[in-house]
Amino acid sequence: MLEHTAPHLAPKDRCTGCSACANGCPKGAIHMLPDREGFLCPTVTDACIQCGHCTHICPVLKQREPRSEPAVFAVWNPDDTVRCQSGAGGAFSLLAEFILDDGGVVFGAAVDEDLRVRHIAIKHKSELHRLRGAKLVQSEIGDSFQRVRHYLDRGHRVLFTGTPCQVDGLYRYLGEHPEKLLTCDILCSGAPSPGVWANLVRSMAYIKQKKPTSVQFCGKLTGEKDRRFRVEFEGGSAYDAPLPKSELGQGLRRRLFLRPACHQCPYASTDRVGDLSLGSFRGLPKDYLPEEQAKGISLLLVNSRKGAHIFDTLPLKKEKRTLCEAVAANVALSAPYEKPTDREAFFDAFARQPFQQVRTRFLSSKAPAKGGFSLKNLFKKKEH
Ligand SMILES: Cc1cc2nc3c(=O)[nH]c(=O)nc-3n(C[C@H](O)[C@H](O)[C@H](O)COP(=O)(O)OP(=O)(O)OC[C@H]3O[C@@H](n4cnc5c(N)ncnc54)[C@H](O)[C@@H]3O)c2cc1C
Repeated sequence: MLEHTAPHLAPKDRCTGCSACANGCPKGAIHMLPDREGFLCPTVTDACIQCGHCTHICPVLKQREPRSEPAVFAVWNPDDTVRCQSGAGGAFSLLAEFILDDGGVVFGAAVDEDLRVRHIAIKHKSELHRLRGAKLVQSEIGDSFQRVRHYLDRGHRVLFTGTPCQVDGLYRYLGEHPEKLLTCDILCSGAPSPGVWANLVRSMAYIKQKKPTSVQFCGKLTGEKDRRFRVEFEGGSAYDAPLPKSELGQGLRRRLFLRPACHQCPYASTDRVGDLSLGSFRGLPKDYLPEEQAKGISLLLVNSRKGAHIFDTLPLKKEKRTLCEAVAANVALSAPYEKPTDREAFFDAFARQPFQQVRTRFLSSKAPAKGGFSLKNLFKKKEH
């Protein structure tokens, strides 16, 4: 590690882990390594030549140019099967198909064979299922920004999807808004710890004495309000429960293990980074298309001229709505969640105690729920 002065990067409590610095370092001197809470953080190695490029491109250290108010739509995919596999109305899949049909490349979050959440690039529709659905863990960017540049340099159209901090990191890494790059940020109310998730996966494997092979974080089941958390194991058995009843759901309800920066997130606003933004359209009037609401409706914000142009060509079902309506029910568009008072106690225990004890103390379903919990409440604006 460095003896001389390290470069100036975002302070730890504001670093989003976007990985722009690690991707942009000309010497590959910055490694993203897990901290004690299990979040990937930039670590500067002896290979640093103090060129200052990482400081220059860190999105946290730069003020963003404000954008004009987005246009707001309630949208859904006419294909019910795709919609059922999607977190909200399945709008992402149509967007991705549009890019893939044009010979482009789509970047987004997928679950790998060890159930780690990482950004991958896909070129074929047959791989699209890997990107569908919300993965409720902070996704690892790896060298994705370098690969985005690689494809753009070769003339491909690229769609990059991710949390707003990841999209901002990509733009800062590229240093420009290339014509062939389309970005879509997802509405995000905080990124859960990959380290905590890895421990949950290990403990599920221990309990079942089998390797987990796949996970669905918030699957839809016809006729059920709650989303399903489902993990499949080698040999065919599965853990399947409503997300709120699962240990992951318990931790999410209490927002126990979100990245520290998420509690002061500058992107929790209607001033978006991506050409388009996608979320779940909550808070629509109950009598507004109830059947469609039961299947999931995406909230789509059109934030740029490029976004508007693509949006017009997508074969989505769409209805114009108001920004007020969108903001009223979605905390991701107004303000970050406050740090819970027991966050420190949780991570103290996480660092010192066997994970089995941490689970029993903090993630047990017997812990009293304040005001009930559902995926809807998870993304809902807090009540004052
Ligand atoms: C950590 C997290 C927090 C969220 N918070 C909110 C919220 O506050 N309000 C709200 O309305 N919706 C929230 N969502 C849901 C998310 O906005 C929906 O996935 C989005 O609405 C797209 O839905 P869809 O049906 O159009 O397509 P889907 O097929 O559900 O969307 C898939 C897209 O989501 C991206 N994605 C999935 N998981 C991740 C991840 N871990 N990191 C980066 N990108 C990911 C994929 O790359 C892909 O682009 C959250 C999702 C995540 C992962």
